[in-house]
Amino acid sequence: MIRFVSTRGQSPAVSFEQALFQGLAPDGGLYLPERTPTWPSELWSGREATTFPSLAFFALRNWLEGQVDDEALAAALAHALSFPVPVVPVSSSRRHGGELFVLELFHGPTLSFKDFGARVMARLAADFLLRSGRKSTVLVATSGDTGSAVADGFSGLPGIEVVLLYPKGQVSPLQEAQLTARRPGVRVFSVEGTFDDCQRLVKSAFADPELAPLSITSANSINIGRLLPQTLYYLWAWRMLQARPIFCTPSGNLGNLTGGVLAAEAGLPVAKFIAAHNANRFFPEVLADPGARFRPSIRTLSNAMDVGAPSNFERLNALLGRERLPGAIWGTSVSDAETVGAMRRVFQRSGYVADPHTAVGIEAAERFRDAESGDEPIIVLGTAHPAKFPEVVAEALGIEPPVAEALERLKYHPKNAERLEADQKAFRAKLLAG
Ligand SMILES: *Cc1c(COP(=O)(O)O)cnc(C)c1O
Repeated sequence: MIRFVSTRGQSPAVSFEQALFQGLAPDGGLYLPERTPTWPSELWSGREATTFPSLAFFALRNWLEGQVDDEALAAALAHALSFPVPVVPVSSSRRHGGELFVLELFHGPTLSFKDFGARVMARLAADFLLRSGRKSTVLVATSGDTGSAVADGFSGLPGIEVVLLYPKGQVSPLQEAQLTARRPGVRVFSVEGTFDDCQRLVKSAFADPELAPLSITSANSINIGRLLPQTLYYLWAWRMLQARPIFCTPSGNLGNLTGGVLAAEAGLPVAKFIAAHNANRFFPEVLADPGARFRPSIRTLSNAMDVGAPSNFERLNALLGRERLPGAIWGTSVSDAETVGAMRRVFQRSGYVADPHTAVGIEAAERFRDAESGDEPIIVLGTAHPAKFPEVVAEALGIEPPVAEALERLKYHPKNAERLEADQKAFRAKLLAG
């Protein structure tokens, strides 16, 4: 049985279930598996793992053996991962070298890659709660994709209530529609304040002894329950192309990239990782200069990546060590103007409509091609559906983005949000009133 240990080494090793419900380790570190099992041979052979959920089952069984039984795991994955995960060629430009692909991770119900982690974590958490007879409250502060993915993924599962906080007036109308869609088992608070106020309220709730009976859990990017599922689509891309690729991951908190690095540590053949960042450039900087510091975040067009102090940096460091980081990962920072330029270029070249996050990845991939020789295929992770960003797409390409069913349905979906002052006592009262 694989146990999970803190990156800071000052907390006891725990089971997957404990790590999932704790989120952060007691010493403030992030959980990592104490050893990395090698991917099973079923994954590489042609006959098994032919659908995404079956690949996910063979892959995760390896990590969770003795902690989640096979039947429960297979059922959880079949429910959580019931959407397509295509690899789409995006013809290469003037540049030489191998082909460019987009691995589209945005066909889940909330149209971003966050659906993978949130939905798998939700099903596994529900299974643990059912077996132990406990209940849990999942608390998230969000300014974007995480909130809707978590709300949607955990909604209606037995033993779970979701509480979501977002800063009123600071998310786009479309994001607000996604966040406030009425869902069973989900309470949404529209907070009179900033995103930082929301995070402060969440932190205070975790520390509040009066709220202990709610057994509050987080579902943010550092949760091991989200990290493990984020290894799966890297394996899937390999399975589809049968080649040793370069993966290019549009990054903010570095959770998605860490999933890929973990997959590679467990034996997935990867030539290189590219960390594609927007103007929030701490990580590309630290790859070049180990003395680089975290910075305040800057607002950009790819706002789900507006992170000045990536929470998974500590985990990447623990996984690879400072010395191996620059060899394994190539990093670069892309401005808003270059993001729009990449959206235009790829649209003119191949008719492909990329959202601004994916476009940061495309720009980074082409920059890498220019800087380095080699002919390995580059796979850019498509992290969000372009329909989530109609204004940017219209501005950049002069067209309406392709329609996404899930967003169309939202237009008619009942909405539901409670107003909340950015005040700890008011929040506590609301939570206890249920
Ligand atoms: C969250 C998010 C990212 C960044 O992922 P990290 O795991 O935080 O690095 C990139 N693109 C989109 C669309 C996202 O929602």
